[in-house]
Amino acid sequence: MSDASKASPQIYGYHAHVYYDAETLPAAERLRAGLAASFPVELGAFSGAEVGPHPVPQFQIIFTKAQFQDVVPWLMVNREGLDILIHPLTDDMVDDHSVYALWLGAPIALKLHTMQRRGYRDALLPKAA
Ligand code: ZN
Repeated sequence: MSDASKASPQIYGYHAHVYYDAETLPAAERLRAGLAASFPVELGAFSGAEVGPHPVPQFQIIFTKAQFQDVVPWLMVNREGLDILIHPLTDDMVDDHSVYALWLGAPIALKLHTMQRRGYRDALLPKAA
């Protein structure tokens, strides 16, 4: 039986992190431009280096719960082999990047020890949430 006393954590929105390297940067640029043309999501800059728990360069997509059903299938069929992490935004960013994580392509070993078990500052949450 499931533990009914443990409520599901509240989800405030989602991030997708698109990983790239020097070789796959053109594909990542196409993907980012395609997203910008297709959805009113918030797109981060190409990091160019490792940031936080991400051990390789990436750019970030911030989107709402309502956008999930459109954005995630679009990423599935347009990722051109890029590895993408999709994670919910709850009050525990460690769980978000590990047990709650959804991967398109090959999972990347994240530096989970760089994060604390808490939520996100406002700039990392969807504005429409
Ligand atoms: Zn994130």
